[in-house]
Amino acid sequence: MSSSFQETRDPVVVDGVHRLSPTGISILIVGGGVGGMMTALESWRQGHNVRILERNEKLDTIGDCFGILPPAWSTLRLFPTMKEQFERESYDVEFSFWRYEGRLIDHRGEAEWNYPGAVHSAQDVRVPWIETRSSITNMLSKQCERLGINIEYGNTAVSYDENENEAIVTVTRLDGTTSRETADIVVAADGVATTSHDHITGRKVRAESSGYALYRGMIPMDLLNSDLHANIIITRDFLCYAITYKEDGNSKESWKAAVSADEVLKRLNENPGWDPDLVEVLSHIPDKSCIDWTLRWRDPQPQWASSGGRVVQLGDSAHSFLPTSGNGATQALEDALSLAQCLCLGRKGKEHIATKVHNKLRFERVSTIQKTGFVNRRLMHHIDLDAAEARPELITMSLPSWIWTHNPVEYAIDNYAAAEAHITKGSPFRNTNGPPGIPYEPWDIASEMEKEMLSLQHE
Ligand SMILES: Cc1cc2nc3c(=O)[nH]c(=O)nc-3n(C[C@H](O)[C@H](O)[C@H](O)COP(=O)(O)OP(=O)(O)OC[C@H]3O[C@@H](n4cnc5c(N)ncnc54)[C@H](O)[C@@H]3O)c2cc1C
Repeated sequence: MSSSFQETRDPVVVDGVHRLSPTGISILIVGGGVGGMMTALESWRQGHNVRILERNEKLDTIGDCFGILPPAWSTLRLFPTMKEQFERESYDVEFSFWRYEGRLIDHRGEAEWNYPGAVHSAQDVRVPWIETRSSITNMLSKQCERLGINIEYGNTAVSYDENENEAIVTVTRLDGTTSRETADIVVAADGVATTSHDHITGRKVRAESSGYALYRGMIPMDLLNSDLHANIIITRDFLCYAITYKEDGNSKESWKAAVSADEVLKRLNENPGWDPDLVEVLSHIPDKSCIDWTLRWRDPQPQWASSGGRVVQLGDSAHSFLPTSGNGATQALEDALSLAQCLCLGRKGKEHIATKVHNKLRFERVSTIQKTGFVNRRLMHHIDLDAAEARPELITMSLPSWIWTHNPVEYAIDNYAAAEAHITKGSPFRNTNGPPGIPYEPWDIASEMEKEMLSLQHE
């Protein structure tokens, strides 16, 4: 492979981004998704040398929308062009709960972190509820381009390894050739189907069927001409829908598993009573644009860094989220900020310890937020709509402030030394980036499902 790491020289300012002093640490990122690109940007800013290898042949902007919370944008103000694009292309929406027949239950309004007086972690940034995946991937890749970070497309990682001095990825290219790429640190940001588990834990993380799947996609506004009322995301440019149904084995964990509008309507018609406006709207789904996404869940997996510390998982490869947690992209971006900062604090020579410190600082927070996806899912699946209509406060689905006030960069700076002492000397260390006053308790899917069964029996 022709590419190699560009050496950093003195601190510089490029495109308004101030690059800190060179650390001499080389980081090879596998996966140019949202998590991988942000890792590259933050690592560049912190003075590390970065490369990104991506399996696709070009930037993949498919997907619909997600809400990305303020902690993910804790350093966005330091990337002024990107910040301007983010604020221009995000969507302010207000949040309401509706019955499926089309009656309003409760209007919750603006995101809580934008209430008057609320202080969130993305200083100086207006963070609305909704962004489209195409806009965010474009924004991150353009910023990489402006900083001279080359995304090397058409490179698929097939295995990970390391020795005392370097991390190693075996890569295949589109022409069938194979190469061995090395760096001080390899970041496996290659999504839910990562091949890094073999090296990191020696075992695959099992993805279990939840019994449900999700139809999701976007309809451009110019295909719609009626007044719309529904519990879906409506912006000036598109309508974004997500409909959960009991799966029949045909859906896939793939953003390319598309179905037609007819199939979605057939499924809706099997359960009569849906709001006719919603059914009308969904009849406009552009052909083959609706993703049929199987909802899989995985037990939390605490070990993201390899035992040698040179290979580290990030984003979905380390922790997949149910959509009801509303946090998949946010946590991938928080990981990126935390890892780049930890590597800077660890310094060259101790970078293999820095990945373990990052893992220690992040896992319990991420695992607790993963669990909120279960709690919200339980609420959505088993809610008594009549009771909720009479008392909307029964719908407790929320994003508590400990989630959106967290700053992963400041947290790493404040806690690095203590977490490192915990790892290297066994000193006591307690994370403080979860729900205040509630110590972390390990959980797994089996125990959550048992709780769900018990609570349903008691209703
Ligand atoms: C095409 C696509 C569309 C999506 N659409 C949505 C959406 O509409 N709404 C939503 O909430 N979430 C969506 N997601 C998921 C969302 O982006 C992630 O949950 C979240 O942002 C975490 O990002 P990530 O970088 O960890 O993983 P991902 O975004 O999944 O990125 C992983 C990247 O790694 C690359 N990759 C995978 N295997 C290899 C390999 N072996 N070698 C090299 N590269 C590899 C993939 O091509 C991808 O670019 C989508 C993901 C993808 C890939």
